[in-house]
Amino acid sequence: MQRFRWQQAEGRRHAYDAEAVGTAHPGIAFTTLCGVEVTPARRDFVELDGRWHDPTCWHCDHEWRVRDDFPPCDIPRLPENT
Ligand SMILES: [Zn+2]
Repeated sequence: MQRFRWQQAEGRRHAYDAEAVGTAHPGIAFTTLCGVEVTPARRDFVELDGRWHDPTCWHCDHEWRVRDDFPPCDIPRLPENT
């Protein structure tokens, strides 16, 4: 099982720790890697056509890389004010 997963919720594509959160479900709040609590809606799980509609949360992307021990050159600096 992949520990970190992407999940669209409340207008952003966040990531979460499946070991801590389990599997995301519609209507059930979970805490993202960037530290906010979001509740995915049913539309966040359907009509995806294999892609996500919402913009990526770069704080989650950053957290994922840090926690997954990416080499420093693969951990870009966060853009400001995002
Ligand atoms: Zn996030």
